Amino acid sequence: MTSHTTSRLTFNLGFLLASAVGESRMVELEYPSVKLEDIILRPLRGQFRASHTTQGIMIRGRLYSNAIVDCARCTEPFEYEVLLELDDHFYLRDEGPPDAFRITDAGVLDLGPLVREEAISAVPMQPICKEDCQGLCIDCGQNLNEADCDCDEQLIDPRFAVLQQLLTQSPN
Ligand SMILES: [Zn+2]
Ligand SMILES: [Zn+2]
Repeated sequence: MTSHTTSRLTFNLGFLLASAVGESRMVELEYPSVKLEDIILRPLRGQFRASHTTQGIMIRGRLYSNAIVDCARCTEPFEYEVLLELDDHFYLRDEGPPDAFRITDAGVLDLGPLVREEAISAVPMQPICKEDCQGLCIDCGQNLNEADCDCDEQLIDPRFAVLQQLLTQSPN
């Protein structure tokens, strides 16, 4: 039975912990889609090397993915390409700093929190779906990439009215 606290990116590296320190193994990843709490990665692929150290397992590798994020201008979800560099130590109990990533005594390692952390830092604070994204109309909420709205005319009308007023008031 799997615990609900582990992600789909959980690996059993017990065989590696049981081997000599210095032993390593390449692990290939290929997921059509992975959800890590609030982040969806689609697809997630790549590889990493897991190495047995005196304190746990060292993970080094490179993953390629698209994070599904909402455009900061038009709010539509889109795929933001991310490259995730993994270079982290997963410590056995009682080893390493208190906030370290952990591997269980049985060799169960959940890569999910690390991959999620890397994905979040790879996405800008204000992702934009495309450079010329027109965003939403602030008045009616229309996505201006898809269609124009009539708000422009209504906004310009009062200005024309003022202009007309000025023209009629100006002395001849
Ligand atoms: Zn957009
Ligand atoms: Zn509008």
